[in-house]
Amino acid sequence: MKKIIANFKMNMIGDEIKSHLIKLLAKINGKNEVVICPPSPYLALSDFILKGSAVKLGAQNICDEEEGKNTGEISGKMIKDCGGDYVIVGHSERRAKFRETGRIINKKIKLALKNGLKVILCVGETTAEKNLGKTKEVIKNQVEEAFKGLYENELFNIIVAYEPIWAIGTGKTPSVKDVEGVAKHIRDAVCADFSPKAEKIEVVYGGSVDNKNCSSFAKAKGINGLLVGGASLDVDNFAQICKL
Ligand code: PEP
Repeated sequence: MKKIIANFKMNMIGDEIKSHLIKLLAKINGKNEVVICPPSPYLALSDFILKGSAVKLGAQNICDEEEGKNTGEISGKMIKDCGGDYVIVGHSERRAKFRETGRIINKKIKLALKNGLKVILCVGETTAEKNLGKTKEVIKNQVEEAFKGLYENELFNIIVAYEPIWAIGTGKTPSVKDVEGVAKHIRDAVCADFSPKAEKIEVVYGGSVDNKNCSSFAKAKGINGLLVGGASLDVDNFAQICKL
């Protein structure tokens, strides 16, 4: 069973999400574990629709503070209260646009875990870093910063999503061999910081996944699933990915 995660990003409003999820539930077959991450105002609505199905709910962001003076933010407790099981942390759009550093990402992960949420931690290199041959170095640093101070048993509530930034929303994808290499590298980095048991950590691939390329990435060695952005907005396309 693979994990298929949909990141709707800042797309669709209530009625659209409602009809999208109702159609999706009618089309998928439970072969894989599906996680839907809608915009946060629609977490509770999505929970209402998904309740009773095997589809899980995730948020796209979490505040790096527990509560209080954080206007506009959403806490781990709120995500949980709205029915969330997962939260995406460290998406490249948030690292770049909202200047989320490794230290902030580490705080977010700790708060998510404290509130009983599973974390989808995004890591990935820019085009420039790739061209300079720095992919492995960048990813090792991102993983090390994110996992600082965690207990080993907490690792298994974290899914690492390898999302090369140059592949997000561009239609470009890495080779399956490269994805396999990075998945191994991620596990090696986590094992080096913890113990060989950390090899069991889940790793998924994200970046321009669609209904045509999904099978090859899902079958890649060491890949436990997919994180899907753009293609998750098309219900037929995404339903096909969920059934791979
Ligand atoms: C993403 O932003 O997490 C993502 C994977 O996007 P896309 O599938 O559109 O490349």
